[in-house]
Amino acid sequence: MPALSDRNPPALFRWLFFPVTMALGFTAAHHLWESGQNTSSVIGLASLVAIATIALCERIYPHRQDWATGKGDVPTDIAHNFVTGYALREWLKIGILMSVVPFVAALSQRYGLALWPASLPMPLQVALAAVVSESGGYWVHRIQHERDFFWRFHAVHHSPHRIYWLNAGRDHPLGMVLDYSGGALLLILCGAPAEPLVYFYVFESVMGLIQHANVRHNMGWLDYIFSSAVLHRWHHSDRIEEANNNYGSSLILWDLVFGTYYNPPGRDEGPERIGLVSLQDFPQRFWGAWTVPFRWAAIKQANGVLPSSAN
Ligand SMILES: [Zn+2]
Repeated sequence: MPALSDRNPPALFRWLFFPVTMALGFTAAHHLWESGQNTSSVIGLASLVAIATIALCERIYPHRQDWATGKGDVPTDIAHNFVTGYALREWLKIGILMSVVPFVAALSQRYGLALWPASLPMPLQVALAAVVSESGGYWVHRIQHERDFFWRFHAVHHSPHRIYWLNAGRDHPLGMVLDYSGGALLLILCGAPAEPLVYFYVFESVMGLIQHANVRHNMGWLDYIFSSAVLHRWHHSDRIEEANNNYGSSLILWDLVFGTYYNPPGRDEGPERIGLVSLQDFPQRFWGAWTVPFRWAAIKQANGVLPSSAN
C-alpha cells in the first residue's frame, strides 16, 4: 500500500479543491481577456493563479507524504520548466501553449475549413475545442507509449519517482512539440477562432497542473469526464499494465471510447510506485534527459531491455 499522508483534509476541502482551482484559473483568464490582454498574458497569468493555489494546497494536504519532500529532483524539474521553456521561447507548458495559441489562431483563420460553429455560446465552443483537440492528443500520447521510436521522447516525462505539480513540465522538448501538434492541427483544420482557443488552452494548462498535483482531494463522477489526478497517477505507475491507460491530458472521453480507461474501484490511493521499471538507470539530471532520444539504444542496452519494450 502506498504511504498516504496522515493529514486528512475536511470533506469541504476534498470536494472543492478541483472546482475552486479551475474556477480561479478561468476567472483570472476572463478578467484578463476582457481587459484586452494578449493571449500569452491571459494563459500565463491564469496558470500562475492555479500554480499558487496548487503549491499551497500541496503543503497543507499532500496526497502522499513521501512525495511532499524533494528527493534531489527539484533542481532537475526547475531546470526542465525554465530552461526547456526558455529554449522554446516560453516558460513551462504554459510557454508552449502561449506560442501555440496565436499560431493556431492565425493558421486557422487562413487555412481553416470554416467548420467552426462560432455562434455557439462560448462555454460550448471551449468544450468542443477540448473534445476535438483531445482526439488528436489521445493518439499522439498513445503512440508515444506503444511505439518504441516515440517512447524515447516521452519516457522523460515518466522518469520521476514522485508526482507533484512541478514535474508537470518535465518532458523532452521534442516530446512537448509532439504532444501539442496532434490537437493543434485538428483545431487549425476546423477553423477554430482565438477566443475559445485561449480559454481551452487555459483549461488544458490548469488541468495539466491539477492532474500532477500531490493534493488529497475527491472527484467522484467527474473522474468520468476529466483526466484527473486520480487517473493520471495510474498513468505514471511503474507497471506497464496500469501505465498504458488514461492517455487523456484534460478529458478522459477518448480513453472511455477506445477502451483505455483505468480506475480500479476503491483504490484512489493510486499505484505503489511511480516511474520506469524497465529503465532503472534512466538519466535523472536535466541535460542527461535531453540526450535520451539520441542514445536510446545504449540506455536500453545498459538496462538489459530489448528494443521493442515500452512502458
Ligand atoms: Zn504518458
